[in-house]
Amino acid sequence: MIISQKLLEDEDSVHEAVNRIMPPEAEVRNIWIDPALSEVIIECDDPASAVGPKGSNVLALREEIGWLIKVTRAPARESRTQHDIRRYRKEMAEERKSLMRKFGTRIYRQKRPGEPWVRVTALGSYREVGRAMHLVTTNESKILVDVGAKPTSNISEVQPFFSAPELLPLDNLDAVIITHAHVDHIGMLPVLFKYGYRGPVYCTPPTRDLMTLLQIDYIKVARAEGNEPPYSKADIQECIKHVIDINWGDKTDISPDIKMTMENAGHILGSSSVYLQVGEGKSEHRLLFSGDIKYEKSWLFDAATVRFPKVDTLVVESTYGAPQSIQPTRQQASQELQDLIIDSLNRNGKIFCPVFAVGRSRLA
Ligand SMILES: [Zn+2]
Repeated sequence: MIISQKLLEDEDSVHEAVNRIMPPEAEVRNIWIDPALSEVIIECDDPASAVGPKGSNVLALREEIGWLIKVTRAPARESRTQHDIRRYRKEMAEERKSLMRKFGTRIYRQKRPGEPWVRVTALGSYREVGRAMHLVTTNESKILVDVGAKPTSNISEVQPFFSAPELLPLDNLDAVIITHAHVDHIGMLPVLFKYGYRGPVYCTPPTRDLMTLLQIDYIKVARAEGNEPPYSKADIQECIKHVIDINWGDKTDISPDIKMTMENAGHILGSSSVYLQVGEGKSEHRLLFSGDIKYEKSWLFDAATVRFPKVDTLVVESTYGAPQSIQPTRQQASQELQDLIIDSLNRNGKIFCPVFAVGRSRLA
């Protein structure tokens, strides 16, 4: 691994400036730099003190080093995955810089002439649960939303329809967008990189970290079950290199004719609905992929964002959408659980609570 002298010097001066400008009461724990984006992430115990009155500390720091400054609260327990991803990004800074330039050049290419049109192709998760993958094609661009695995013992159904002629060649794909980090939405993403995709992957920062954790886990589980994993760790690393984190509400150009905004879907940490504005003016078409959503506020998350300026086409998750899929109220469900626990304890029983997927439980 070659880290350039310039990068080491940059890093030293960033550390020096942060330590000088941040007040001691901020309790800075970690300083991360992402040279590809010229971004510094400062993890501390007291973000308010770190930011300073009216953002004065952040402004002073930005003035001095010229980098973007992000201040976050240090987590109670350090995440190994997040740590590894940030370190890997730093190591890959030069390559990521040139990738960003390449992505940018492609997004702002000359538009093709001709009548605008949009088509959505179902490549997985339609009339079935799992292996979510939607292809959006316009006269200008091709975008994939989610690349999931199907939880099934039928090997031929695990992957979405990668061999669909509409999808190939992968060089023509402008971007992949990931709604959230459940395996049925991200489980097969590294397969795209194994087959040679080298374009951007857009998702929120928590989705980036969680999906990497689950993809590594997917390899372990496949091996433990005696199956050949569909991809390697190298494919996952290639994928991390191509991830561009996007925060909720930030409108971003992702191809010459598509602007994307992600909004809270209320489902798991970082889960998003994807809002695509295709074209402009009279021919503009606005598409919304809900992703997996939670319509009401839960104990863990705010309710999904459902207010969008205008939607022409909506693709909505319907896992629990059948006429008989009526959920009990929270009060009824809590009461039922409480009765079961009391009943078991009265009989000196033990209580196990299996959790079927990431982000579906919390420690009380
Ligand atoms: Zn989900």
